[in-house]
Amino acid sequence: MLVVMNKTATQEEIDNVVACIEKRGYTARPIPGGERVSIGILYNKGSVDASFFRGVQGVKDLIPVTRPYKLVSREFKPENTVVNVGDVSIGGKSLVMIAGPCAIESETQALTIARHVKKGGAQMFRGGAFKPRTSPYSFQGLGEEGLRILVKVREETGLPVVTEVMDYETFDLVEKYADVIQIGTRNMQNFSLLRRAGQAEKPILLKRGMAATIDEWLMAAEYILEEGNPNVILCERGVRTFVNHSRNTLDISAIPVVRKETHLPIIVDPSHAAGIRDQVIPLSLASVAVEAHGLIVEVHHAPDEALSDGAQSLYPDQFEELCRKAETVFNMFDSK
Ligand code: PEP
Ligand code: MN
Repeated sequence: MLVVMNKTATQEEIDNVVACIEKRGYTARPIPGGERVSIGILYNKGSVDASFFRGVQGVKDLIPVTRPYKLVSREFKPENTVVNVGDVSIGGKSLVMIAGPCAIESETQALTIARHVKKGGAQMFRGGAFKPRTSPYSFQGLGEEGLRILVKVREETGLPVVTEVMDYETFDLVEKYADVIQIGTRNMQNFSLLRRAGQAEKPILLKRGMAATIDEWLMAAEYILEEGNPNVILCERGVRTFVNHSRNTLDISAIPVVRKETHLPIIVDPSHAAGIRDQVIPLSLASVAVEAHGLIVEVHHAPDEALSDGAQSLYPDQFEELCRKAETVFNMFDSK
């Protein structure tokens, strides 16, 4: 249940409704909106009796929440959430391009790619320092050294950096260096990691599990919001299907569904969806056409020598081409 307050409701009236909810043993979560405050009721088992709130000063409306997720739902918060990272706004009025290598391999590699993607049109840099690899014999990332290189990239280019956290134990470390903390597909339902992410000060980029339904994905985001971190960016990165012409299948229909169901911003990772460079630009443009708020793309200046995911990494000039085309598609839509 959501208690919608009048536009003119005073703080005293809001506090009174909160007290009224808590007196009944529930948790009240005031959600400030553009025009008015709404108060969500959490931890109710079964439906809440709306008659408790009828006629209470300052209350405009009572809306039953029909979804299993609450804080992330549009029913709770109709306006889009905009996640600000330095000067970059995700979920706002412009398309956000995030680019960089799959993994940070060296300072020279990271800085070379960062200069290219900045020139090409990226607003943020990506690169893994802790890599979740299918094989224990594959390159696992540079760890803290990789995080230090990310700081150098930020210092030199001014681009905020996004990097993945793989486990609870290294969360503090990653949080210290990153501007945005990524939770990868394999960890989407790592609930202790999600709770820790909910206590972080930094925004979280939450990738969709490779076999997760949209409900499961939004429930994972709910863990983060429920712990107190409102800054979650969702990322569709393809799901596992029977096909073998691509690494995963980009679930393009997830974008309009997610935009309808939640106020959180959604971006697309066409690189891990495709697994093959040739598909990255077409999938990116399709994602922008269905109104994704941004893209996160793997780029490498020498993909043949990349220590991971070279086959899906764009060359710098392809990234530049992508930025130009994506902006054109983005400008065809004005709904934002
Ligand atoms: C990544 O972005 O580096 C990554 C490993 O992605 P995913 O979790 O989507 O596979
Ligand atoms: Mn990768």
